[in-house]
Amino acid sequence: MSQKKPKPRPSLELVPRYLRGGYDAESVDRRRTWVEGRAEFEAPLIGAHALEGHSIRGNVENLIGAAQTPLGIAGPLLIDGTDARGTFYVPMATTEGALVRSHERGMVTLTRSGGVKTRIHTDENRVSPVFLFDDIAAAADFAANLDEKLEPIRAEAESSTRYGKLLRLECHPIGRQVVVSFCFFTGDAHGMNMIAQATDRACGWIVANTEARHYQLFGGLESEKRPTALLLPGGKGKKVTAGATISRSLLRTYLHVSPTELTELWHHGVLGNIQAGSIGHGGQLANGVTAIFIACGQDVANVANSAVGITDFEITDQGDLHVSVTMASLTVATVGGGTAVGTGRECLGLLGCEGTGKARKFAEIIAATLLAGEISFAAAVATGEFVAAHERYGRNRPGKNT
Ligand code: NAP
Repeated sequence: MSQKKPKPRPSLELVPRYLRGGYDAESVDRRRTWVEGRAEFEAPLIGAHALEGHSIRGNVENLIGAAQTPLGIAGPLLIDGTDARGTFYVPMATTEGALVRSHERGMVTLTRSGGVKTRIHTDENRVSPVFLFDDIAAAADFAANLDEKLEPIRAEAESSTRYGKLLRLECHPIGRQVVVSFCFFTGDAHGMNMIAQATDRACGWIVANTEARHYQLFGGLESEKRPTALLLPGGKGKKVTAGATISRSLLRTYLHVSPTELTELWHHGVLGNIQAGSIGHGGQLANGVTAIFIACGQDVANVANSAVGITDFEITDQGDLHVSVTMASLTVATVGGGTAVGTGRECLGLLGCEGTGKARKFAEIIAATLLAGEISFAAAVATGEFVAAHERYGRNRPGKNT
């Protein structure tokens, strides 16, 4: 009988924790030196940053330094919104050459055209737990009658937050389960920590006071960090529209294109996106969302839902071009999460969007910025300037550039 050789055991050396999580400068340096030693690779730039370790205790674990992304500024962008009013210069963090220039070109065109109107349609966030029942009749009965218990559920949910307000419950029965969307207003915060805690408390009350046997906190319908068609009507973050009319002559001067060329391009893009099964329709919406999210301390994983939107180009009765973007799910914050971390707080400050009372303004600025990116991108493709612009601004070929 041949004996099997024991497999070599993988190394289980854990990342050093140090005292109290090791957020002090010495622990952070030691941890970085530890990983450099294991990798046999020196990484001094990771340690060259301006973050104060203890202040980011709730933002990251096993701290070794900071990742840096280049930061550009695009503007002027004139906005006539509900909360955002005036001219803005928007910080954008990216490594994609031509991205800032592209948005800047669109901003200049929109500002020369009289600016961008912005409006917010819905402003809420949701957690959608699933409740389990003995049979479909019990599930249906629960779904039909849950609203009668809204007040005690609301009291339980709101007991853990000063700012979170439970707006309504939406029941979705499936088999002998019911997914319940808890829809909250979350003030200036993104809100997922806030409303996950609030919903968890309310779920405990529901299980104790109804036929529900059990619950799981996330039932999938919250569309958190996922692009889903459910996002399009709104209800996850801020649904915002930005729109403007650009005259034929300004379009020709600044973007070298006509209204007809842009609407034809838009039409082809819609057909392509239908074939691809895209959710929404746009040119480069994720580019602007990501660059602003990185700059302004947002949770970048929320680009997955926040970049869902619809771009629309139409010719007006006067033969000019009306352009709009409707962003279905801008999950943004000016309080909480990463908004107070280092340069993120400063970038929000550059927009006049730091702290309480500024989240809606911030969302309007983002939507207007995205509109600028959409018209510039579309014009570059329509005129054949797209490749040339990237060759000029957007290449950094290893071995070729000096
Ligand atoms: P948070 O920083 O955990 O909480 C925000 C805090 O700000 C709350 O304690 C709130 O007080 C307080 N606050 C002060 N002024 C406020 C104002 N004007 N408006 C609203 N709140 C105000 O952040 P969060 O927004 O709840 O959660 C965001 C982070 O959660 C994201 O950045 C992401 O990283 C993370 N996240 C969590 C989950 C999850 O399921 N737990 C999922 C995805 C992402 P009150 O508590 O008294 O209201």
